[in-house]
Amino acid sequence: RIQLDHLTKRFGDTVAVEDVTLDVDDSEFLVLVGPSGCGKSTTLRMIAGLESPTTGNLYIDGDHMNYRVPQNRDIAMVFQDYALYPHMTVRENVRFGLEEEEGYTDDEMDERVEAVATDLGIEDLLDRRPGELSGGQQQRVALGRAIVRDPEVFLMDEPLANLDAKLRSQMRAELQNLQDDLDVTTVYVTHNQTEAMTMGDRIAVLNDGRLQQVGEPLELYHEPANRFVAGFIGEPM
Ligand code: ATP
Ligand code: MG
Repeated sequence: RIQLDHLTKRFGDTVAVEDVTLDVDDSEFLVLVGPSGCGKSTTLRMIAGLESPTTGNLYIDGDHMNYRVPQNRDIAMVFQDYALYPHMTVRENVRFGLEEEEGYTDDEMDERVEAVATDLGIEDLLDRRPGELSGGQQQRVALGRAIVRDPEVFLMDEPLANLDAKLRSQMRAELQNLQDDLDVTTVYVTHNQTEAMTMGDRIAVLNDGRLQQVGEPLELYHEPANRFVAGFIGEPM
């Protein structure tokens, strides 16, 4: 369980995230939505331990995380640009996610990489390099690198933003299957309304650093807490 307790993050005079209190339950798929600059990435980066909050507290499974980088803390993160290593093969890229992990023999690592590749449908691409893959295939490799460690917390920042509409919807479905299979707690950032409505167990709406409403998709749709939520969830983006 991830607990954000009155989290605030300032960068100089900019208040990126303001007094956000939010719980993400075990195995939940929480979608964080809001317009550009509203503080989504900053929130995710605080959960990942890449930024520390200015004030407030962050707990993961009850452990106070504020000033600790989650070392290997079973947290995986996928960014929008998914930065694969161009000189490495797909196999090496995925395996890279395991490298820090102790206790695997080489054979076990290879087996694990192949199992994940099969799950993601990239098992025939293992010996290629990222430059020889389509955007969607590269995206799967990035996901593979993230999930190969079997993380407990999966943080995704607009992971499908670079894909065309068809691939987006295909990957959306696959991410949901993955969520069911992995039993992972996910925070998924998007500004795509369809993604929020179809993927989230719950949706958290941010505007201007402030949390506007948290609830199940239909709850937000039918009972928006304010005009902003109504406009955001109501309008196709
Ligand atoms: P987008 O949808 O465009 O990715 P976002 O919701 O992810 O936006 P953030 O990246 O969290 O927004 O940024 C929130 C605010 O904090 C913005 O005003 C941004 O300019 C500011 N900000 C973010 N990171 C920094 C930083 N390292 N230094 C200064 N200001 C920052
Ligand atoms: Mg962002």
